[in-house]
Amino acid sequence: MSVYLDYNSSTPINRRVLAKMIEIYEGFYGNADSRTHDFGTAASVIVETARLEVAKLLSVTKDEVFFTSGATESNNIAIQGLTEYAEKTRKRHIISSSIEHKAVLNTIKHMQTLGYDVDFVDPEQDGRVSAKKILDLVREDTLLVCLMHVNNETGIIQPIQSVGSGLKGSGVLFHIDATQSVGKLVDDLRAASYSSLSLSAHKIGGPQGVGALILKKQGYRRSPVRGIMFGGQQEHGIRPGTIPVALVAGLGESCKIARESYRDSLEKCAIIKANLVEMLDKSGVTYTLNGDQNFCIPSTMNICFAGVSSEALMLTTKQYCAISNGSACNSKSYEPSYVLRAMGIPDEKIECSVRVSWGPLEDMNLVKDSFMELVKIVQALV
Ligand code: PMP
Repeated sequence: MSVYLDYNSSTPINRRVLAKMIEIYEGFYGNADSRTHDFGTAASVIVETARLEVAKLLSVTKDEVFFTSGATESNNIAIQGLTEYAEKTRKRHIISSSIEHKAVLNTIKHMQTLGYDVDFVDPEQDGRVSAKKILDLVREDTLLVCLMHVNNETGIIQPIQSVGSGLKGSGVLFHIDATQSVGKLVDDLRAASYSSLSLSAHKIGGPQGVGALILKKQGYRRSPVRGIMFGGQQEHGIRPGTIPVALVAGLGESCKIARESYRDSLEKCAIIKANLVEMLDKSGVTYTLNGDQNFCIPSTMNICFAGVSSEALMLTTKQYCAISNGSACNSKSYEPSYVLRAMGIPDEKIECSVRVSWGPLEDMNLVKDSFMELVKIVQALV
């Protein structure tokens, strides 16, 4: 059996989460918005319990949590849902980075076609986008700054704290795509200042197809973000459509687990990383880790094995471990990674780079054994 080392694209569902969801599918099939019978009330209690769990993980209030189908939808609402406010305030300038996930990048590019003026800031060679460069671009008519917390390809942590505090009181909205950091860099997210934030359950041991958008209130005022679809009044119109009760409960349970265990999990992930790096060093293969590892989340490595094509490596290691060479959302294209390109890494190195990502529950020995096979294949391919 191949060992799964592609956690940044999706994580295995946690057993506790699955058990919770089965319980709900079996016993609670009401529509959470049905007011006329107890089936609806019971479902709505489950939804509100899950909402509280998401809120607790992020230290926000329950009424700042809106359920969506995942981070792609959350990012779309957070950005496209601002058009009414933009018209009212005549603010039409957006700042973001060139290494955002396509769910942000392409949404902002769509805003560009609607006449919005956009600045995409490139990262430095270390994989970090400079907070100063972002803040220096702020102008009178800046509507929004969008920055991801952790890059999905490199694992490099972006300076959301500095950007958030730099924007405080400026009237500029700040959206964080926290899909890769929620449940992991919990303290950083709790301390950050922002106006909206996206997350997805399937990156933290929850089910695929559910996520949340956090819309922070501005004092007593609600967020200026509006829904982008027409339908019912679910989620206050931010995301109309029947709430998928079991999925939402799965998200809530995965947030609860993350809240209880995130410190431990980070430590375990760091131990796995230290072991893998030690194996690489001992093996004598030539490698570099893309991005400054001092700023890398301990559950990801983006490794360049000079002279070894990532496509060949992935195919030959497939039976031992599941790795990738970038985002699953772009895997149908053979274009070299736009993230690594933006960091100034030459194409011949990008073509030799693979992403390995893991979680705390993986069996250390299995991970090490499978990684050893990968190292042997690298030795044979150079
Ligand atoms: N943003 C980031 C940083 C991601 O890694 C992903 C998932 N690859 C998404 C957004 C999209 O998330 P979802 O699959 O929930 O739509």
